[in-house]
Amino acid sequence: MQDLPATEVRTTCPYCGVGCGVLARVAADGNVTVRGDTDHPANFGRLCSKGSALGETTSLEGRLLVPEIGGRETSWDEALDLVARRFSETIEKHGPDSVAFYISGQLLTEDYYVANKLMKGFIGSANIDTNSRLCMASSVAGHRRAFGEDIVPGTYEDLDQADLVVLTGSNTAWCHPILYQRLLAAREARGTKIVVIDPRRTATAEECDLHLAVDPGTDVLLFNGLLAHLDIAGVIDRNFVDSSTTGFAEALSVASAEASSPGAVAAGCGLAEADVRLLYELFAATSRTVTVYSQGVNQSAHGTDKVNAIINCHLATGRIGQPGMGPFSVTGQPNAMGGREVGGLANQLAAHMNFDRPEDVERVERFWSAPAMARQAGLKAVDMFRAAGDGRAKALWVMGTNPAVSMPDSARVRTALKSCEFVVVSDVTRTDTTRYADVLLPAAAWGEKGGTVTNSERRMSRQRPFLPVPGNARADWRIICDVAQRMGFGDAFTYDGPLEIFREHARLSAFENHGDRLFDIGALAEIADAEYEHFPPRHWPQASGEPCAERLLVDGRFPTPDGRARFVAVRQEGVALPVDAKRPIALNSGRLRDQWHTMTRTGRVPRLMANVPAPTLEIAPLDAHRRGLRDGDLAHISSRYGFARARVTVSDNQKPGTAFLPMHWSGHFAANAGAGSLATPLSDPFSGQPELKNVPVRIEREAIA
Ligand code: SF4
Repeated sequence: MQDLPATEVRTTCPYCGVGCGVLARVAADGNVTVRGDTDHPANFGRLCSKGSALGETTSLEGRLLVPEIGGRETSWDEALDLVARRFSETIEKHGPDSVAFYISGQLLTEDYYVANKLMKGFIGSANIDTNSRLCMASSVAGHRRAFGEDIVPGTYEDLDQADLVVLTGSNTAWCHPILYQRLLAAREARGTKIVVIDPRRTATAEECDLHLAVDPGTDVLLFNGLLAHLDIAGVIDRNFVDSSTTGFAEALSVASAEASSPGAVAAGCGLAEADVRLLYELFAATSRTVTVYSQGVNQSAHGTDKVNAIINCHLATGRIGQPGMGPFSVTGQPNAMGGREVGGLANQLAAHMNFDRPEDVERVERFWSAPAMARQAGLKAVDMFRAAGDGRAKALWVMGTNPAVSMPDSARVRTALKSCEFVVVSDVTRTDTTRYADVLLPAAAWGEKGGTVTNSERRMSRQRPFLPVPGNARADWRIICDVAQRMGFGDAFTYDGPLEIFREHARLSAFENHGDRLFDIGALAEIADAEYEHFPPRHWPQASGEPCAERLLVDGRFPTPDGRARFVAVRQEGVALPVDAKRPIALNSGRLRDQWHTMTRTGRVPRLMANVPAPTLEIAPLDAHRRGLRDGDLAHISSRYGFARARVTVSDNQKPGTAFLPMHWSGHFAANAGAGSLATPLSDPFSGQPELKNVPVRIEREAIA
């Protein structure tokens, strides 16, 4: 890696899961400018609109700089004493499951690690979940069912080397822009075919070779039909299936019975038969095929089945673990993957261990010398806020996320936050959620703190500070350790910085691991200070004495008890809530190119606000006409959970019977505009991920424009 001038710091973008390298420079007047890091293997110097505006998000306007109790500014000592006392008293009186942490894919791996250690090893509950539950939990569950461990086999290089890329439920052009640019460059170089499967004609679909505008909730049928076609076409890799997998016959039998022909699939998915046949023929004929899937697959009441329907097709053709091929889940957040590595979800343990294996629980317990090891999975996000609302969770700590508007059925979540006995929020700025905090703790922001993040292709990178921590703000890991020490767990939480936490995390990944887990970064367990400081981006695993493993599953062996991957027989289940006469439109939601989550950062940058300055409902011309709606009208959108208002854009990018609302706006920026207020909390039974992509709504013209 090239040496940088002393004025420039190498760090990582804090937005999406592409994980681009950023070089940040602070001018003498305090202004921050950024450019892409040409040495970073995720982006090679490119940045998207959000990344290139990062320098404009570092002002202190609106920052939380001092702890507050009940709105009154106070000292750290008083705030931390109160948090520790209230959590300890609650646990003593009502048991460890009466408290909960709701954390964020914005946290660094080291923050995530100590939060999990505190809750799962020392408090004695697994009631810690992350907003990544809303992002990729279905992929995690699907990977575990198929591979035995939460493994993303692919790398970005596979997209460079593929001849066919199938983007399923992924508006890559807007949500992972640099990855998309990389894909377009590969197409230019080698003629890669791009297929997009998405109910909307997105910016990604505009550029593709084939767009399949599936009806919401029909992905399993489409991929079951593909599995049946691959068998008929004679392209099943019998050697791979026989030597490296189990369950093929049953999965094929279920798929063939359900998806009897491309015509039947087309009718069931709302597609033209010719388009279905073209996809199937392309997939059958192209061995270097990558299937990328993202929130359109994950955010579903049957997201895990969708993931497994996709993986089944790759296992059947042996297209996994080899260059230019494989199923590839791309994550939404900058450190969703890092969170998974340290057990950030309520049903996981650190280092890819799990509660369903007693030997894993005991292994983590031994490593931590944990006095109160949790022995079973805790509350997932939706259930956690239900528990906060009905009094089961009496003390809740929200770290770096804004559930008051981002959770589905957000009105109920706000009621829960209001009624919960004790709410702590640690964050960088005031949000819709901070107004419910009994105690508010100011956290250090991007540019002020250091640690590691892991991107969608398992590549760990450093975030490095280049600004002083303002006011009395503190890094998240330190706030968590400060509370842990006051709760009486001092010895286990006396880290002197993120490096010491990282080393412990790496040691745990290798602890008593006799090769039965792929996640192993034991080679980094004794990483020197200077090496951590200069840490070049690298893939995991990196076992002790081994180089980084760029590619996983090369030898066709999987981390299951018998070393084989598992086909999962999946059936089409449809959507959680179908449209009806009262609510006849299926509302989809998602990201815009220039915005991030609930806009607490990007909403401060005028040039990012300029393109789409207000929430906009995209609706098909026929549906708009029936409601007397025209461009610019104000629409009133209601579901069985709440309502929102947005300006109308009539667009034939929408299929009749569907509409789209961006996820970003909230009460903080525009009253009653949030997609979360409309969304259903109905969730996938395996992953607990809610169905954010399909909400039956009624759309009417708002009387007062
Ligand atoms: Fe940041 Fe993602 Fe844009 Fe890269 S693609 S600059 S990680 S937002």
